[in-house]
Amino acid sequence: PLGSIECVNCGQCIKICPVGALSIKPNIEQVWDAIYDPAKTVVVQVAPAVRVALGEYFGFKPGTVSIGQIVTSLRLMGFNKVFDTSFGADLTVVEEGKEFLGRVQRGEDLPQFTSCCPAWIKFAEQYYPDMLGNLSSCRSPQQMFGSLVKDKLPADLGISRENLVMVSVMPCTAKKFEANRPEFKVDGNPDVDIVITTAELGLMIKESGIRFDQIEPGSFDMPFGFKTGAGVIFGSSGGVTEAVLRYAAAQIHKGVNTEFKQLRNNHDTRVVEVDLGDRKLRMALVSGLANARELIDSIRSGEEHFDLVEVMACRGGCVNGGGQPEVQHSQGDVITARAGGLYTSDVMSQFHNSGDNPYIRDLYAKDLTEERAHHLLHTVFSNRSRIITDAIALSTAKGERKLSMSICFGTSCFLRGSQDLYTRVMGYLREKGLDESTEFTASFCGNICKKGPVLEVNGQVLEQCTFEMAVEKIEAAVGDNG
Ligand code: SF4
Repeated sequence: PLGSIECVNCGQCIKICPVGALSIKPNIEQVWDAIYDPAKTVVVQVAPAVRVALGEYFGFKPGTVSIGQIVTSLRLMGFNKVFDTSFGADLTVVEEGKEFLGRVQRGEDLPQFTSCCPAWIKFAEQYYPDMLGNLSSCRSPQQMFGSLVKDKLPADLGISRENLVMVSVMPCTAKKFEANRPEFKVDGNPDVDIVITTAELGLMIKESGIRFDQIEPGSFDMPFGFKTGAGVIFGSSGGVTEAVLRYAAAQIHKGVNTEFKQLRNNHDTRVVEVDLGDRKLRMALVSGLANARELIDSIRSGEEHFDLVEVMACRGGCVNGGGQPEVQHSQGDVITARAGGLYTSDVMSQFHNSGDNPYIRDLYAKDLTEERAHHLLHTVFSNRSRIITDAIALSTAKGERKLSMSICFGTSCFLRGSQDLYTRVMGYLREKGLDESTEFTASFCGNICKKGPVLEVNGQVLEQCTFEMAVEKIEAAVGDNG
């Protein structure tokens, strides 16, 4: 199944498919069912990047901040409370900032990699399991938000956790996969129940008959609707690092507000050095997973050294997510315009450092002990380097088994011709009348190596296997069997 393979679920394929053959698996019906279920209280969180893109479906220019219209639309559609994921982003900044300062002081587990993009997390789990200790253990803003709200709101509203439905509006499909991860459930009940993309919300608003461009802007519900500008810029590549640096700088320089504008530009990979206290910190900001692979390989080889690395799977960050409105070439630089909208929101905000969010300060003062914060806001990652551990049977021996063969169809072997090798070897076995006495299995290794195609014949592994090598080994094996 797609969920068990190397796909990182970012949804970018949907945007670039030239024939429109791919589409988002929608969750719209589930949302309507929850809203119309009288037993349920349905709350929604809206990610930062959604507010600068959704308006495009209704004739707004890219980058126009339409969060007021989004809030009103969600209320008209029947959501009981409308919250802002940027509140969760502020929490992420505080937790990730503390973690970063701790690592810098101890000189351990550097560089710290950001952990708010679930597509990047799955990529790291698959291809860089040896570096999982370098990932920040912070949950993403979506999951911090879901965990906190599901923990606090049922008691405040006098309802059960099961009757509180948390819906997220997110810029990509990776967030759907993330919400479904078992580590983000409590006794089987997810912290985030349903995830819809910006595109799905656009459809829901249209099918509700709401005149998005004519409604009065509304305001988020408190306290989980209050955010700082740092929580909003998360939606753009570089925003997470800037937000963490603002927090760290305020901790070190006590009260000084710094913007770190040098982190903002359009390059997919940026290297920036920043003075913080008596240290010079070296940061890398990268978007696009091919670019991330290059950067990480340079870190692994010792060629590069960084203190903090921000990785976003989508080029330009979440503003360019796979669930955002499609970009037409005639629209100009839409991604820069959307990012600009987020930075404008930051300028308009009352606070610019997540540590200054008064509701978050209150949470830490009254509720979030270190232990509780760790329990609710952090997570662990798993090694997914071998994606399917159980081999898949391609053919089974009908009579006496003379040959036992296995071939790897992981991406690396596939790109080096394992499919073609398999077809030719099967043709050879049929020709020699050996197909009915051969057991052939496939494995799907996620390692990126240069050994492929890898074929195993009666326990002997043949790397960079050619058809001729395979035939030689088969003939020897059949000969051995008499
Ligand atoms: Fe989703 Fe943002 Fe990651 Fe893209 S960069 S996959 S939109 S979380």
